[in-house]
Amino acid sequence: PTFESMHLKEDLLRGVYAYGFEAPSAIQSRAITQIISGRDVIAQAQSGTGKTATFTIGMLQVIDFKSRELQSLVLSPTRELAKQISQVVGNLGDYMNISAHACTGGKAMQTDTKKLTHGCHVVSGTPGRVLDMIKRRILNTRHLKMLILDEADELLSETLGFKQQIYDIFAKLPKSVQVVVVSATMSKDILEITKKFMSDPVKILV
Ligand code: AMP
Repeated sequence: PTFESMHLKEDLLRGVYAYGFEAPSAIQSRAITQIISGRDVIAQAQSGTGKTATFTIGMLQVIDFKSRELQSLVLSPTRELAKQISQVVGNLGDYMNISAHACTGGKAMQTDTKKLTHGCHVVSGTPGRVLDMIKRRILNTRHLKMLILDEADELLSETLGFKQQIYDIFAKLPKSVQVVVVSATMSKDILEITKKFMSDPVKILV
């Protein structure tokens, strides 16, 4: 398979090639078209497999760039990862005028407020700050089409203690939101999320 065969928008395909990708990785070959089709997806994949570009390309294909509403939310377990994802979104979406924002703790809230009220298509953040911004009505979830949980096993681990926050975030999302879960391992907590918030998910193991 090639990126062309996925029928990506021209400006997205340009972004993918300009970023230096030539051919899709295994997970990209299998998961991108499923994400684009609108299905809920569980991808069991480790870092290094090209997982970030998988959900990024999928989300960029379905975002409506004529709108300035927030359409895609990515949750990840660390500030560093949230920032990296936001950068990958910005890079792959470079020719599409994508507006992405990293919404993480440890930064002044004013930065979030400014960026989010000005309009942005994608937010990549950590659960605590994202939930806080939702509660303050700065982050508007009304037009969200897609939620991505990256490194879901970490996100839901007891050590980090994000589980309740993630459930609280789910409660604020439109019922129709498409859910994509990426995880290196499949835990009981992930199965629970699947049962509660996903409908007929495709499972992809790489
Ligand atoms: P990840 O699994 O998201 O942590 O990505 C691992 C690394 O693979 C990153 O440096 C990506 O830029 C790179 N990568 C992802 N997809 C491709 C691809 N199709 N071709 C070449 N490199 C890729």
